[in-house]
Amino acid sequence: MSPRIGVLALQGDTREHLAALRAAGAEAVTVRRASEVDAVDALVIPGGESTTMSHLLREFELLEPLRARLADGMPAYGSCAGMILLASEILDAGVVGRDATPLGAIDITVRRNAFGRQVDSFEHDIVFAGLDRPVHAVFIRAPWVERVGPSVQVLAHAADHVVAVRQGRNLATAFHPEMTGDRRVHALFVDIVMGRA
Ligand code: GLN
Repeated sequence: MSPRIGVLALQGDTREHLAALRAAGAEAVTVRRASEVDAVDALVIPGGESTTMSHLLREFELLEPLRARLADGMPAYGSCAGMILLASEILDAGVVGRDATPLGAIDITVRRNAFGRQVDSFEHDIVFAGLDRPVHAVFIRAPWVERVGPSVQVLAHAADHVVAVRQGRNLATAFHPEMTGDRRVHALFVDIVMGRA
């Protein structure tokens, strides 16, 4: 049976994640309300703008339902803005009241727009633990990880910074695998959800 994986569809590149998940063998559905959060086996938080997504999570009254399911062990994968939201601590989170709010699913500290201060976007082939060939990684005003908790596994680096992590059944990348047609990161997440990885 294929797992039912939701893609948070408040803002960001939802469609690409739905396509990537389907190609990786999952049933993929959009998630916009609390009842939909409760109806999925796992959740992807896409790239976009973490401050806007946090604002919409509050507006749609999704913040607490989402936190509850994550605390309860629902697997999650976040790319870029999604990585920021899954973190336990966010540096440069934005202005108070309009800031990116951490959901605390992965014990990492991320810095928003970290690479963006140097160069807005870039692409790089990076070694990704557990994957046979390098991943062509697209970074767009991307965060990097500045602190990794003791139970977090580092999966990839770019320019000497941590850009992909896993903690238990949660996965996060600072880059956008959904944009390249390479389905291996989504396939890894499907395997994690299925208990195969
Ligand atoms: N800079 C964005 C943020 O802070 C992330 C960019 C992205 O998701 N491509 O949320």
